[in-house]
Amino acid sequence: MNEEEITEMIIKCPACSVEGVAKSIMKELEIPHFGKVLETTIQCPKCGFRHSDVIALEQNDPAKYIIEINRNNLSVRVVRSQSATVTIPELGVKVEPGPKSEGYVTNVEGILTRFEDAVIKALNLFEDEESQKNARNTLINIRELKKGNGTATLIMHDPFGQSNIVSENVEILEIPEEELRELKTGFVHIEDS
Ligand SMILES: [Zn+2]
Repeated sequence: MNEEEITEMIIKCPACSVEGVAKSIMKELEIPHFGKVLETTIQCPKCGFRHSDVIALEQNDPAKYIIEINRNNLSVRVVRSQSATVTIPELGVKVEPGPKSEGYVTNVEGILTRFEDAVIKALNLFEDEESQKNARNTLINIRELKKGNGTATLIMHDPFGQSNIVSENVEILEIPEEELRELKTGFVHIEDS
């Protein structure tokens, strides 16, 4: 992956509206076998606001990407846009798009690390024994996968086709119309009936 172009700007903060302190960094990356993506990060030192996202400059169709997590696939490139749902069914973990969700370019191991961090946070919030026990088991399983022990399935749905798992071992499926309607997109839906 070569970094092609970095643009930095000082902007008005979208969170606290203070002028002239927030920094917007845009990086154009060329991802082999996928195309160009624009990675954007906004950081405000004034209020601590931070947001990042990736935008694919060459858009794909809505798709579901499936790859086995195993020792050979840990370094496979993953582009997760803000609109993607990421699931590892064997571990019972899922990240859905929301107003605070972020887009990023990482690899399979990086996805596991993000789940690991989320489970650690959840562990501190759970008060009942049962939930804590489940979370601790999930944590052990995630850590084993990171070490290359065992296998699980990584599934990523993106209704806007902005995401990708870049590997010849990936299975790419169309998202059925019904499933597409049930996916959260991070936007507020107003249904007309
Ligand atoms: Zn701010």
